[in-house]
Amino acid sequence: MRIAVPAETDTQESRVAATPETVKKLVGLGATVAVQAGAGLASGVLDADYEAAGAAVAKSAEEAVKDADVVLGVRRPDPATLKGVKPGALVVAMMDPYGNEAALQGLASTGVTAVAMELMPRITRAQVMDVLSSQANLAGYRAVIDASSEYGRAFPMMMTAAGTVPAARVFVMGAGVAGLQAIATARRLGAVVSATDVRPAAKEQVASLGGKFVAVEDEEFRQAETTAGYAKAMSAEYQAKQAALVASHIAKQDIIITTALIPGRPAPRLVTREMVESMKPGSVIVDLAVERGGNVELAKPGETVVHNGVKIVGNLNVPGRIAASASSLYAKNLYAFLETLIDKGTKALAVNHDDELVKATCLTRDGAIVHPNFKPAA
Ligand code: NAD
Repeated sequence: MRIAVPAETDTQESRVAATPETVKKLVGLGATVAVQAGAGLASGVLDADYEAAGAAVAKSAEEAVKDADVVLGVRRPDPATLKGVKPGALVVAMMDPYGNEAALQGLASTGVTAVAMELMPRITRAQVMDVLSSQANLAGYRAVIDASSEYGRAFPMMMTAAGTVPAARVFVMGAGVAGLQAIATARRLGAVVSATDVRPAAKEQVASLGGKFVAVEDEEFRQAETTAGYAKAMSAEYQAKQAALVASHIAKQDIIITTALIPGRPAPRLVTREMVESMKPGSVIVDLAVERGGNVELAKPGETVVHNGVKIVGNLNVPGRIAASASSLYAKNLYAFLETLIDKGTKALAVNHDDELVKATCLTRDGAIVHPNFKPAA
């Protein structure tokens, strides 16, 4: 079995889909691994490190991908990367399938079996393969670090001979994986932390990390979690009540970190221009949802906007800002999934298309889009 790791082509992408650690394990399963030259550089991995782990270094994507049974990526590989790929090869990456039907059709037409890691079901068996969690966790951490570097004051309270520096007030909006890590990180830095979410389960999690929970807790709130553990889109009425409650809270905050997402939909708008204008100059907002439409009205993808002295940070690919850690965890997620697809006896790829993990993540097969959520309407 041949596994290829072509370099990422998106200029924003600094992560890599395999590390020397996972290459070693894949070789241990009987695979041969080809990594494109330079693929790991932005994550601090040299070609020589891959070679020492047992991989061959290929000069080009084409050379890496030629004859591969499996192609690993961070993002959906572009058509040039998959040029010459074997029909039937398994291509595993974060495919960003929502709203990208044309790209999915393009993938299907190459004949590959494309697997979207971000569609992995959140069940116990697949926790080790959960790329959304591994990457969101690091993004939540990094968002607080980015906020602290933009903030012209200290996070912890400091009592000095020259006077007292007050603790920063940090408000985290969306207390999922990223938000909970943001709360923990801001607390470690000594901030006074509060947080909000529409899922009732978040209340206890926020409290357990030492944060204060701020939310309208009505009947709709009590029903706001899907069986998969995700947030539902809230009614306009709930959003208005919640906005009124958080508006007065936001005016007293120094830092806001927004992380709210709803799978397959644009991110909910949580911070309006008026709310930004109620904050003190020098305050900082980091919008982690900026790539999905943004939680903050004035946020711009890839930019730091300054409005009335308030900085609104819209960094793209935040896990990529901590690329070595993000690659290490992502590569382990991929390895854990691949391990389930390899027959230990024959050491060949043996994908069971009836397995719930494969069913949930397989987008294309035999030239067609097969995932029920993305199949073109008949
Ligand atoms: P996510 O990235 O989809 O969204 C981030 C957070 O934003 C969520 O907590 C969501 O409730 C919140 N949100 C959405 N709309 C909002 C609004 N209008 N206002 C405020 N907050 C809003 O979510 P996630 O981080 O992937 O996690 C969702 C849940 O899944 C969490 O409970 C998490 O602990 C759980 N989870 C379970 C497993 C598992 O069991 N294997 C793995 C990972 C996460």
